[in-house]
Amino acid sequence: MSADLTGKVALVTGSTSGIGLAMAKNFARLGAQVVINGLGDDAAIQAAKDEITSVSDLTVKYDSANMLDADAITAMISSAEEEFGAVDILVNNAGIQHTARIDEFPKARWDDIIAINLSSAFHTSSAALPGMQKRDFGRIINIASVHGLVGSVEKSAYVAAKHGIIGLTKVTALENATQNITCNAICPGWVRTPLVEAQIEALATKDGLEKEEAAKRLLASKEPSLRFTTPQQLADAAAFLCGPAGSNMTGSSLTMDGGWSAQ
Ligand code: NAD
Repeated sequence: MSADLTGKVALVTGSTSGIGLAMAKNFARLGAQVVINGLGDDAAIQAAKDEITSVSDLTVKYDSANMLDADAITAMISSAEEEFGAVDILVNNAGIQHTARIDEFPKARWDDIIAINLSSAFHTSSAALPGMQKRDFGRIINIASVHGLVGSVEKSAYVAAKHGIIGLTKVTALENATQNITCNAICPGWVRTPLVEAQIEALATKDGLEKEEAAKRLLASKEPSLRFTTPQQLADAAAFLCGPAGSNMTGSSLTMDGGWSAQ
């Protein structure tokens, strides 16, 4: 059964692109008031807003909070609550990647990945939970990764942050278990978004391959299904977690990785 999110307010971090944009659009399609966030120039932000308003009559709020800035994150939650009365659904999705071996990993990139991929989810949750507790409703969805469950070489910061966000998911779930507040993680394998496109291009350059050959090789290296999970499939999973069937599901990690973590 598809969730009816009429009257709910959904805030998705990192939703100017990729998985976050697909989730924001899907929430809007299901009736929610949506707040988007993320980097991008005016044209990219307008394009994201247009994509969402193409399926909804509601306006879309954009908040430019940088996920590196704890004060801006707190202000983003307050501003959404002031304007719309609540943040009912919070998706912690913003994320970046950098690949290098630990002994060569740039220290500033480590700090940024931990801040954006992990600490920002603490700051949003910390700011949004008091309102959720008062209203006795909340759905927090942390976009982790199969890398929250298994490791891969050259991804130390990403793997550490994603394992961390699965831990944060469990504690958030436990601390709010007796209320109508759930917190779950979604763990995708490869999804063909700009974040992975950069890795496909790097592999194509390194191995002298056509881009589509490199994409196939990337899949074959990890994902038994040999298929990318789509942003829409992830958006449907998020909607499921917000609907009635997901109401007693909390603290879990939903793998959507084509069998990657089953190996
Ligand atoms: P993407 O690059 O398309 O989107 C990332 C989003 O995060 C963009 O909107 C970007 O503007 C935003 N962002 C980056 N830095 C930010 C900052 N400092 N402040 C605010 N926003 C910021 O990537 P995606 O693939 O859609 O990734 C979304 C999430 O899914 C990430 O957490 C990623 O780790 C996770 N994930 C992706 C894959 C995949 O294969 N693409 C797999 C597993 C998990």
